[in-house]
Amino acid sequence: MFKAKLVKGALALMLFGTLFSIPLMPAASAADASCPNGYVALTFDDGPNPGNTTNLLNALKQAGLRATMFNLGQNVQNNPALVRDQVAAGMWIGNHSYSHPHMTSLSSSQMSSEITRTQQAIQAITGTAPKLFRPPYGETNATLRSILAQNGLTEVLWNVDSQDWNGASTAQIVAAASRLQNGDVILMHDQYQSTLQAIPQIAQNLKSRGLCSGMISPATGRAVAPDGGGTTPPPTTGTKIEAESMTKSGQYTGNISSPFNGVALYANNDSVKFTQYFATGTHNFSLRGASNNSNMARVDLKIGGQTKGTFYFGGSSPAVYTLNNVSHGTGNQEIELVVTADNGTWDAFIDYLEIH
Ligand SMILES: [Zn+2]
Repeated sequence: MFKAKLVKGALALMLFGTLFSIPLMPAASAADASCPNGYVALTFDDGPNPGNTTNLLNALKQAGLRATMFNLGQNVQNNPALVRDQVAAGMWIGNHSYSHPHMTSLSSSQMSSEITRTQQAIQAITGTAPKLFRPPYGETNATLRSILAQNGLTEVLWNVDSQDWNGASTAQIVAAASRLQNGDVILMHDQYQSTLQAIPQIAQNLKSRGLCSGMISPATGRAVAPDGGGTTPPPTTGTKIEAESMTKSGQYTGNISSPFNGVALYANNDSVKFTQYFATGTHNFSLRGASNNSNMARVDLKIGGQTKGTFYFGGSSPAVYTLNNVSHGTGNQEIELVVTADNGTWDAFIDYLEIH
């Protein structure tokens, strides 16, 4: 009787141990030890192309790199097998319009058609509609952005232009990639021999600097770990997030190009937000912003749903206001910049948030 009980207890203990050891496996860790300095996003536009894509995918796989392919809808339609190859090689797929027009010279219905036809073509092949859009020539405007929002798409431009489209040599493309920092995105194309030949050296350069190739977060438009799920890597020396790449909500929230490229918060509950991964629980938060006039504009910092402080902008000249030693939760946290004290006498303009 006693012996039987003991065995049962031991079995239960073994089962308990097995069940609860699973979440402690390395998969739970968001930061890869071989990427101490974070992630950058390699992007290749204008594919898939029958003469190049297979070689590009082989070069990337050989170098252990993953990239985001901003495909053209018409090329997707004509080369469905290459799109399947892109996915099989571990690449992410973005939308680069259907026919590569100058989007800003199109009517809004033409813009919509360029975007939705490409979404549908990619979804039909991969089963998933893209969440990222790169405008041809980097040309964008408010109409395009609102159509992107309606289609659940985040606009992705770049921090570094490889100039491969402009005749850059392999050495120049490698040099451009060597300027990439944590979170950055580089523009390249699925088209040129020079780009193809740069891949092994780009891989070597990133590795030597403790950087890895990651995915682009639809929440921020920045590079994150491949399993990042919309988060950015832990801040090290300082992570700067542009307001215009955060998710906007509220009735009047909108992009502005003056006094800086940023976002205007016009009324109470207008806000921008994004998800950030924190390894530790205290940081300083600096927000660059301005009031639209001489009245004091106020923007609250919320982390994980709790208000942590308020940024004050006393006039229309852009300034940086810092909240020091803010305590917050660790792991993935939602960060929100929100107006709650608007009395109708001012609007808040915000440029970027820096976490350090
Ligand atoms: Zn293009």
